[in-house]
This record gives sequence, C-alpha cells and structure tokens, in this order.
Amino acid sequence: MQIKKWTIRLIATTLLIAGLLLIITLNPVLTYANKTNYNNYSIYYSKTLDPHFTLKLEQATLLLQESEFYVSGLKLDICLNDGSVYPTIVKKMLGPAFAWGFYNKVVLQGAFNCAENYAELNGYKWNLVQLLAHEMTHCLQYKKFGFWKSKPIANIPDWKWEGYAEYIARQDYNQKNLFQNIERLKNADTSKWEIIFEDGTIAPIDYYKDWILVQYCLDIKKLSYEQLIKDKTEESELRAAMMKWYSENKANAQQVALQNWGSTVVIQPIISVHLQ
Ligand SMILES: [Zn+2]
Repeated sequence: MQIKKWTIRLIATTLLIAGLLLIITLNPVLTYANKTNYNNYSIYYSKTLDPHFTLKLEQATLLLQESEFYVSGLKLDICLNDGSVYPTIVKKMLGPAFAWGFYNKVVLQGAFNCAENYAELNGYKWNLVQLLAHEMTHCLQYKKFGFWKSKPIANIPDWKWEGYAEYIARQDYNQKNLFQNIERLKNADTSKWEIIFEDGTIAPIDYYKDWILVQYCLDIKKLSYEQLIKDKTEESELRAAMMKWYSENKANAQQVALQNWGSTVVIQPIISVHLQ
C-alpha cells in the first residue's frame, strides 16, 4: 500500500515538473526581463540588446527565403542567452548546442558579436547570420511537417534534417559550389570535430557532410526537399553517387576554376611588384 502511494506521488511530481517545464519552454516571457518586437520576430533578452542584432535577423531571413517552405511573416520567438534561465532549461532538455530551433523558437546559447558576425561557444565561432538561418530553417520544417512528423518524434535521418538547415544557411559565394565544398572537406583534417571556413568560423564536420549530401540531392539530382524526405535511397548509396559525380566532373571544374583565375590574374603582377 505504502509503495503504491509513493508510486502515485512520484508520477504526479514528474508530471507536474514536466508540465511546468513545457509551460516555461513555450512561454519565454516568463523567464526574460525584456522583449522587443521586430517585424514578425519577438526577441527575448535580459540585459541590453545590440541594436545591430535586428540587421542579423533580416540577413538570416533573406537566406531563409531560399527554402521551398518559406512563408513570409512567420512569427518566431528569438531567445538570447544573457542571464535568463531559459537557455539552460532548453539545454537540459535538448542537450548542448550552439543554438536550438524547434516549433516557433530560436534559442541561442553562445555569446554573440554582431559587428564581427559570430556566435562563440567553447572557443569556436559560428557565423551568426548563418546560425540564425540554420535554426529558423528548423522552425520552417516544424511549420511544414508539424510536431509529430518532425524530429525528434518522426524517424527522419539526421543528415536530411540538419543537412537541409545547413543547406539554407550556407549561401556565401564560397559555399554555393558543391565541387568546392567537397574539395574543402577533402582538404580538411577529418579527425577534428570542426571544419573551418575562410572567414574563420566553423561548422561541425558531421553537419558539413550532411549539408553537402543535401546539396548534391537538391542542386545536382534536382530533388525538392519534400521529395528528398520521401526518398528511400540509402545514404551510403547517395554518398557514393555524389563522389562519382565529383570524380567525373573534376576535370571540368578545374577548367572553370582556371578560367576564373585567368580573369583575375591581371592583379597578380601588381601585387608582386608591391611585395618586391
Ligand atoms: Zn540544427
């Protein structure tokens, strides 16, 4: 009898705590001192808001528009990590990360620098605009597929979920070319956790691999993301096909690179004159 009573109490307490956590997670207003509305975004923070942060949101929104699921006016809560307990609660529930994107929430964990456009965590820098775009893409995925058909409930392979968020976020001029992206990976130290871009910011190498495979499926195989989600081809098969494409097009791509280099070669002698 005593055991039964304790079991009921334990279940009731667990449900109560889970319910409270859910209420807090869905309502960041409960744990933040300040809120600023900007376009369709509600920014939650506890201290002061860098006035340039809204520009970063606008730049991330531009990247987001490349998604086939983009809807204008998507209302999102943007939660900063500047003293509120909120990011810590999310970290406890979802595990450590630079940031999280779920439902209609983007939560940053790292400290960010708008002037230099990075978020920093554990000594690593992530391009801030691209990080925001990555997490916002997860929100678009939730909006499109719904809670039950999104990760982590739905059985969608990680590479399709994370790779698409990276695909939408990584649109710098030196990130759009799949051939160059594969080359960057081939030249990287793959024993490390991260891969470093030309601006000194990083991507986790696993995410990088996810991204380029999604890029292959969307840009080269011309699948839509929705088709890719439904596609049953094995990941290993797609990776092999991507590398076959890479090998077959290597000569062509090098030719194009040489031509591009040729068009800018004119500045080379000027630089060397100054160096001497
Ligand atoms: Zn992600």
